[in-house]
Amino acid sequence: MDAMPKRRKTAGASRKLIEDLVAASRILAKHEVLDAYGHVSARSDGRPDRFLMSRSLAPALVTAADLMELDAGSEPLPGDKRKAFIERYIHGEIYRARPEAKAIVHSHSAAVIPYGVTRTKLRPIYHMGSFLWSGTPVFDIRKVKRENDLLVRDRHLGEALAASLGSCACVLMRGHGMTVVGESIPEAVFRAIYTQMNARLQSQAGLLEGPIEFLSDIEGRLSTAANRGTLERPWELWKRETLAKK
Ligand SMILES: [Zn+2]
Repeated sequence: MDAMPKRRKTAGASRKLIEDLVAASRILAKHEVLDAYGHVSARSDGRPDRFLMSRSLAPALVTAADLMELDAGSEPLPGDKRKAFIERYIHGEIYRARPEAKAIVHSHSAAVIPYGVTRTKLRPIYHMGSFLWSGTPVFDIRKVKRENDLLVRDRHLGEALAASLGSCACVLMRGHGMTVVGESIPEAVFRAIYTQMNARLQSQAGLLEGPIEFLSDIEGRLSTAANRGTLERPWELWKRETLAKK
């Protein structure tokens, strides 16, 4: 078992950010976006060049004491000997490439896997998935590193993933999962949950008589803005549902 630090190693971040990040981890586990694997992080509001994420732990079990603060190179601060997630470089390199990104979710959601291994593009099929209008590029790790274990286990791979993501909200990862970005913790959680739902619905619609009518780009853009204005509603609900059980 990992040793618990006497003091939290997240001194630079606000209590609200810490509470929201713990809630996000539990919410994403409850919605089965994360299972024993996957993780959510938040950019520190005290030190924007750093970010917070749990030590290597199943997301449903995360508490504030499990959070670690990682530097711009995705490494734990000196003195924090706890085991960090291998794939923390996903987060660190996206925060570096996308200054507006405040939270990131990396998931192995089964629903999105087909869209990373076929020619079928994941596209916004309904208004809750409208943020996907900006594109869902597929990161193929083999193009960066031929001999690989699918994991983004260093800065070089993280940088390549961030380059694939570009300015999109979601990047699919071939044979692995997805990573989504938000400008707040609630937005990243919302996008992760609804990317998974959009993938399920698109797969269902694909079985019916086509072609599928997706949202147009303008619908996607306008609906994304509208959803941003109502994020607090699902966030409050999800927090209450998730944290009340504990
Ligand atoms: Zn992964």
